[in-house]
Parts: sequence; C-alpha cells; structure tokens
Amino acid sequence: MCAKNTDGLRLRLQAPAKLNLFLAVTGRRADGYHDIVSLMVCVGLHDSLEVDLEAHGLTVSSNLPEVPDDDRNLALRAARAFFEATGRPANAAIRIRKRIPVGAGLGGGSSDAASILTGLNRHFGYPLPRHALVDLGLKLGADVPFFIQGRPALATGIGERLAPFDHLAPASALIVFPAAHVSTAEVYGRLNLTLTTCGKKPKVFALKSRVFDTTRHLCNDLEAVAGKLHPVILEAKATMLALGADGASMTGSGSAVFGLFRDPEAAVYARDHFPKRRGWRFFLTYLVL
Ligand code: ATP
Repeated sequence: MCAKNTDGLRLRLQAPAKLNLFLAVTGRRADGYHDIVSLMVCVGLHDSLEVDLEAHGLTVSSNLPEVPDDDRNLALRAARAFFEATGRPANAAIRIRKRIPVGAGLGGGSSDAASILTGLNRHFGYPLPRHALVDLGLKLGADVPFFIQGRPALATGIGERLAPFDHLAPASALIVFPAAHVSTAEVYGRLNLTLTTCGKKPKVFALKSRVFDTTRHLCNDLEAVAGKLHPVILEAKATMLALGADGASMTGSGSAVFGLFRDPEAAVYARDHFPKRRGWRFFLTYLVL
C-alpha cells in the first residue's frame, strides 16, 4: 500500500497524492454521480499526519488556512466514522501537514481520510475487515477506496470498483499546479458527454488488456472543460510536452498537470526549465508501483 504508519500513542501517517493516468467519463447516473473508467496511481508526494490518541474528543488542524478544521475535514470525518463503527471512544487530535495542493485533482483530502481509516484500524488491531473499511471510505468520497487499497488500479463504477493494474513502467512524474482552483462540481456540470473522447478510443481496450503506453494512452475527459475555464492548464500541458515529457495530462478535475518521464534526468531538466509563473508550484516525484 502507498500509505505508511508508525504505531504508538502518536500515529505518524503518510497520505500520498494520486494521478489519473486515464480518466474516461462514460455516463451520468440518476444519483448525480458519473460512471468513469480510470487508471489511478499514487506518487511520492504526500501529506504527513500525526494523530494523538491521548487527546480528549476529536479535533483536526493543518498548516493551511483553506483546509477546514471542522466536520467538513475528510480526515476528521474518517476518524469519526471509524470510532462509530468500532464503538470505541472517539479520542484523536489530528494534525495535518499539507504538501498536496488543495483542489488540484491530486486527491489530498480523500488520501488523508484513507490514511486515517487504515492507520486507526491497524493501530487497534484490525477490528474492521477490509471491506468494512472500504464501505466507510466510499461514504466519504469516491476516491477513498482507491487510497485504502493503495496500489495502481483500474477504477470503474464511480471509482469504487478497483482492479489491480500491475503493468506500469517506473517513471518520474513532474507535477505542476498552475495556481488555478477548479471546482470539481463545475467541471462535471459543464461536461458534454457526447463530446468526450477517451472512452471511445482503443485506449479502453488497451487498458482492459492491461497495457498502458504513456505516449499513446494518457487521456482525461475533463481536461478540455477545465482547460476552457482555466487556460493555464492547457499552457502547462503544452509546456510539459515541449520540455520533453513522454506524455502529459491533467489529473482528476484539475488543475494540476503532470508529465511522465522514463528518464529521471529529463524530468529534472523539465522542472529546471519550466517558465516560473507567479503562484505556480512544482513537484518532482515518481510513480509508486
Ligand atoms: P476532489 O476532486 O474530491 O475535489 P481534489 O483532489 O481536487 O479532490 P482536495 O485537496 O481533496 O481536492 O480538496 C477538495 C476539497 O476538500 C477542498 O475544498 C477542501 O476544503 C476539502 N477538504 C476536506 N478535508 C480536506 C483535507 N484533509 N485536505 C484537503 N482538503 C480537504
């Protein structure tokens, strides 16, 4: 699994970011969710969480003012769900050091939640079986089950049906956050399903045959919509390709864009030569396989 933890009365957990190497939106469901086919993988970039189990009651805090410190925080909600499901007294002070940009399509909130669920479950001797943990996670967000499983996966349904995908080649990933905060709801709301292309190509066939070629198969149906709202997304992608990435794409609903590089030195070159724009952030990392 991607996330790590260290047991004690103070748990130290890592919550990795994810990339969607492929994201086809295949339908809209009556409940408002969308059906997707997505190839998801964790990267080395991570938030760090510390959980003090000697605290009284449940609290959460972080180093970023834009991250809620109340019940809207997914890590706090995950802890509450765990304690309710196990009948244990709900005592935990969670401190999050955010490194993953917020609202970037990198799944930071969902990953924080998954690391709390798996970290608490492990600490207390696995009172919940894996499927119960996944069910709790899914109530918090469609990406949480992926982070609980923590391995490269082909996700279908709303993202909760996961099949391991063990055929990815090692690669460096350069992630650029182009200082645009994208609303996931707005991007999905503006998506015209008759214009999506990822699911129509032989790409899905390749994925189902467990083949993924970075130069041919990277695709994200949300990229054009998010790029129209925030043209910097498309600029960042074009620059990534011009600087030698084997392939580049937006992740999730954006706005982060990533480039993949088989050659780690090429990734360093791209990072060092990317035009530095105000507010843009760069993360040179790797796929966790
Ligand atoms: P999504 O596509 O689910 O919106 P994302 O990867 O684009 O995810 P996140 O960093 O997970 O973005 O943040 C999305 C929203 O979740 C933010 O508006 C933030 O206020 C809220 N949120 C709740 N808990 C957390 C958390 N622990 N870390 C970051 N954001 C959180």
